[in-house]
Amino acid sequence: MTPFEYAPAPESRAVVDIASSYGLYIGGKFVEATGGAPFKTVNPATEEVLAEVSEASADDVDAAVNAARTAYTRVWSRMSGADRGKYLFRIARILQERAREFAVLETLDNGKPIKEARDVDLPLAAAHFFYHAGWADKLDHASLGPNPRPLGVVGQIVPWNFPLLMLAWKIAPALACGNTVVLKPAETTPLTALLFASVCEQAELPPGVVNIVTGAGATGQAIVDHPGIDKLAFTGSTAVGKMIARSIAGTRKKATLELGGKAANIIFDDAPIDQAVEGIVNGIFFNQGHVCCAGSRILVQESIADELDSRLKRRLATLRVGDPMDKNTDVGAINSRKQLDRIEEMVAVGEAEGAQRWDSGCELPTNGFWFRPTVFSGVSQTHRIAQEEIFGPVVSVLTFRTPAEAVAKANNTPYGLSAGVWTEKGSRILWMADQLRAGVVWANTFNKFDPTSPFGGYKESGYGREGGRHGLEAYVTTGGPTRAGQRSGATEGSAK
Ligand code: NDP
Repeated sequence: MTPFEYAPAPESRAVVDIASSYGLYIGGKFVEATGGAPFKTVNPATEEVLAEVSEASADDVDAAVNAARTAYTRVWSRMSGADRGKYLFRIARILQERAREFAVLETLDNGKPIKEARDVDLPLAAAHFFYHAGWADKLDHASLGPNPRPLGVVGQIVPWNFPLLMLAWKIAPALACGNTVVLKPAETTPLTALLFASVCEQAELPPGVVNIVTGAGATGQAIVDHPGIDKLAFTGSTAVGKMIARSIAGTRKKATLELGGKAANIIFDDAPIDQAVEGIVNGIFFNQGHVCCAGSRILVQESIADELDSRLKRRLATLRVGDPMDKNTDVGAINSRKQLDRIEEMVAVGEAEGAQRWDSGCELPTNGFWFRPTVFSGVSQTHRIAQEEIFGPVVSVLTFRTPAEAVAKANNTPYGLSAGVWTEKGSRILWMADQLRAGVVWANTFNKFDPTSPFGGYKESGYGREGGRHGLEAYVTTGGPTRAGQRSGATEGSAK
């Protein structure tokens, strides 16, 4: 089946003003980096250089941590929750007002389809600030324990798959609880974090409450190692998460680690099959599969495996892969050459292991980084493509006969971030949710996110929760001196 021909519907990039180079946002203003080598950020759909970005050295990180400490001690930890909430509310409103500008910039820098940046990333980022604005003056009533107080300066390191949304997941709860932050965006997607600095200015956030330092792994490591950091919040690969855990072992630093996943999307024979096919598409091809909780393993009941296979392939042949700025595009560009290499390597491994590879054969643009939506069938549990995170538009199909077998296979992974169950039986959903070792279990849907709902994993998917009341726990300490005592200077954390 060939897809309908659609006339191109390109979003205009005129709404975005990209500078040729960027400094670091420290203490409420952009400053020059000291010593690091600037690097370029490119549009992965065209390989066009978008801007030159500074690399923050350990000295720059030190300046950012000092600015955050000063803002914490003098202003932010002393401010009432109601006043902090007003700033968060302002930020949320500004993100809504400037949503188009941010969505276009995110698509240019990341390669995700504009319809996803516009309809998912931006509304959810604003929603996180709105939600946490509401908590800022109610922390005493959030069942966090007696006398919840901020931790101090939080180091936050975010990945490239949802650059602004992950920033919102990190900054909103930290600020709501009275902490100040030093945030590092990923090397390949720094631009929306740098634009967020202008939102902080527009909201008249006190200088130093939010600091943005750009750079690669070494800059991240400098944040992790800095003695003035009281807590770390990291989202990224399990390998780097483990390095961070090792680095801070034996220190007083707290950490939340949101790491990889290899989610099972389980389709029972009584599932509404066309909806399940849509759920599979949304589960693994949303955001090019660059999603930690992506449904990258389909477990289908054996009796409907053939039917699901043909319906899924028919549907995939209609997905539009191409220009992310076109509003009709379903699957955009792979975020970087490095990630494309990783996907190609894993797909080659899958073929060498004996799984059957299928893709729609759709045309791909000549410039940029692209990968066709791909299905592997005949996959067994020992295959690397069934065990390792590919982080691309590639799904492995395995079969099962009984619910117990589905659970055993779903849980047979080092990860434990998410899972999906498709069946019409409510009791089976509840039984499965109880058995699945996953932080989130979706029923008859997939990849649904809400700021009120805690998100996080088990096993090698990390620890701690983000979002919801539970997400606040990571940003406060409880017991100890009263708020009055705290205002007179007795704050938690190192006053460096
Ligand atoms: P990383 O884990 O390296 O990147 C995540 C963030 O950590 C980035 O900001 C990165 O900086 C930073 N970082 C890298 N090294 C260090 C360090 N030593 N100390 C502190 N921070 C550091 O992921 P990659 O981009 O290398 O992707 C590799 C694989 O990881 C992917 O193929 C995918 O499987 C998985 N991944 C999973 C994610 C998830 O959400 N579960 C997100 C991203 C990747 P910088 O980018 O500037 O180098």
